[in-house]
Amino acid sequence: MSSLEIVFVVALLAKLVAELALEFLNRAYVSGRTGALPESLEGVMSAENFAKSNEYTLVKSRFGSLELVFDAVVVAAVVLSGVLPEAFAAWTGWLGEGAWSQALFLIVTMMVISLVGVPLDYHRQFRIEERFGFNRSTLGLWIMDKIKGMLVGLAIGGPLLWVLISLVDWLGAYWWLYGFVLMFCFQLVMMVLYPMLIVPLFNKLTPLEDGPLKSRLMAMSDKAGFKCNAIQVIDGSKRSAHSNAYFTGFGRFRRIVLYDTLIEQLGEDEIEAVLAHEIGHYKKGHVPKMIASSAVMMLAGFWLVGYLARSEWFFEDFGFETMSIGVAFLLFSVFGGLFTFWLSPLFNRLSRKHEYEADAFAREVVGDWKPLSGALRRLSEKNLSNLLPHPAYSGFHYSHPTLLEREAAMRG
Ligand code: ZN
Repeated sequence: MSSLEIVFVVALLAKLVAELALEFLNRAYVSGRTGALPESLEGVMSAENFAKSNEYTLVKSRFGSLELVFDAVVVAAVVLSGVLPEAFAAWTGWLGEGAWSQALFLIVTMMVISLVGVPLDYHRQFRIEERFGFNRSTLGLWIMDKIKGMLVGLAIGGPLLWVLISLVDWLGAYWWLYGFVLMFCFQLVMMVLYPMLIVPLFNKLTPLEDGPLKSRLMAMSDKAGFKCNAIQVIDGSKRSAHSNAYFTGFGRFRRIVLYDTLIEQLGEDEIEAVLAHEIGHYKKGHVPKMIASSAVMMLAGFWLVGYLARSEWFFEDFGFETMSIGVAFLLFSVFGGLFTFWLSPLFNRLSRKHEYEADAFAREVVGDWKPLSGALRRLSEKNLSNLLPHPAYSGFHYSHPTLLEREAAMRG
């Protein structure tokens, strides 16, 4: 094994062991308390739903651990077997080493790797989610989703990668800086275009219909100082009973999207509080902050790809005979996650800080913390959320504080 392959194996194992340990800790934490409802959850969740949420957590965690091992084995096999250099040599022998050829190689390879995991996806959707009453998708819809997802990936990723790879020829050594600028602008444009062009391929978005709910929400957003030109309802119920609300775009393209399942599950005052929370994210400047922090990561990523792409040892160690920017991107995309995983507690902390701020904003606008707390309680019950995760587990995996933490903060 080359020295870089050893680094790769160590990083892969370190992440795998850490993730399995977190799952194990969390399961031990959950199964240690099955039975009676803990005092802290009295009045928050029914004993029946608490038992169900424990079971859901355990089943997901056991299967998730299996997936972690499976994914690690697939990635290790792809990187260490020598199949990548051989496939790349065959591919470029056939289609040449041009930017298009490299871009397509990258996309096709990523698709093949993700296809291997399809049976596991199937199991999660049609066995686990089904068993707990969350699955509303059909096999036909699910297959169509996969096919559409791949076509969209090809249609957007293809041209984008082609430009990125071509930048090296066009601009030379500092291509990565321009690549970063291009990618950054692309992200901003996608924030506007994604809900307009991509989401409708999978879901139906309809404006929230006129009525008491809409008047109430409009009045509240006026009061919150948020000129809201679009509240849209997405038919999330087509695939899943899980519910959500989110915020996309910026400037005059901003919009709020409510899941139809959320409207089904919550009272009007609770939906109002959820919307106030979403507006809170906007008013507190969380969108530009998240964009800025992801831009820093992206710049670092581009610099690193730029550096690796001109380092002969990087290619040699992984068995490639020629240096190519497409391969550097591919190896980086496999490699990158092994290291950024360790940063997730940091990003989650930032995200959780934002959640607290948005909660406080909602409390102020609505004039009471109870509607939001009511909404969060009901959503936790409906989604069978694990309200008492192991602290290490939530540190790595929870972008939101737990319900109890949020309630405690809102009570002040
Ligand atoms: Zn939020």
